[in-house]
Amino acid sequence: MSNLSSFSFPHPVNTVQGPISYEDLGITDCHNHIWIDPVPGVEPNCPILDQFHEIELELVEFKKAGGQSLLDCQPEGCGRNSIKLLELSQKSGVNVIACTGFHRQKYYPPQHWLFGKRAQKVSDFLCTELETGMYETLEMEKPIKAGFIKIALEPSWGDCPQAALEGAALAAKKTGCLMEIHTEKGALAEKACLYFTDYGVSPNQIVFCHMDKRPDYGLHKELARLGVLLEYDTFYRPKYEPEKHLWPLIDHMVQNDLAGSIALATDMAESDLYHHIGGGPGLFGLPVEIKNNLRKRGISDSDITKLIGGNIARRLAGIN
Ligand SMILES: [Zn+2]
Repeated sequence: MSNLSSFSFPHPVNTVQGPISYEDLGITDCHNHIWIDPVPGVEPNCPILDQFHEIELELVEFKKAGGQSLLDCQPEGCGRNSIKLLELSQKSGVNVIACTGFHRQKYYPPQHWLFGKRAQKVSDFLCTELETGMYETLEMEKPIKAGFIKIALEPSWGDCPQAALEGAALAAKKTGCLMEIHTEKGALAEKACLYFTDYGVSPNQIVFCHMDKRPDYGLHKELARLGVLLEYDTFYRPKYEPEKHLWPLIDHMVQNDLAGSIALATDMAESDLYHHIGGGPGLFGLPVEIKNNLRKRGISDSDITKLIGGNIARRLAGIN
């Protein structure tokens, strides 16, 4: 892990309103979506989230309920609009951390540039977005920096965009930034863990998303012990039977002293899940219902703090 020795930790967390200390993030939803522009040329069923007023109300509600921060997981090219993220953060007072990277290829128009470039070009782009400013803000007086890298794995390794994966690995190694990795229901997490650490990315820079869709206790414990963070988010997805899978998985990990390796989220890319748009559970589910349920299950306040903010905050700052 010698690549990390050149960074000083903890480093500030880049929110869309500027850098803040990880200690000020508070209750944080570690994987969500608060804005998705329509993308010309994509399949008609790709999610769109662009009702500014309703989203603003939702964020205000989140903040009132104790939520302080969230990570927006929509990268450039598939609907990210960091200017809207900035306005929503300013109006609601919620800290928003935007990302660079890439989502699944189906969310982009055919032949999107990022999937045709060499690894070094992809890395240069991600590093610019993290260190200088995101593409759509470069003309602004104060460009807005991305705060982390988000990438997506396809269901099989052979379908993953290899140059883009390599570019993300180079950028993570160069910047020391956190990388959230979308998995298709937990698939390929062990393969990706080896892949990125072979490139010199530290395990504590890695978050595997949607891992509760693959509630294999042995795998979760092994990945946790390697030092990666596991993101769980099916609380409001009845088809994944959270009472049967997600909640017992949380209990099991906490009882095995692995509360430091989990981060919770609600991943509301579909507008129906928004309270003010579709009458769904809403962003405030995390600081209210989920937090209360953790308490009811006998999880200690210090572990709850880790699960709903502490762990992701430390990882964003480069410490574990
Ligand atoms: Zn997502």
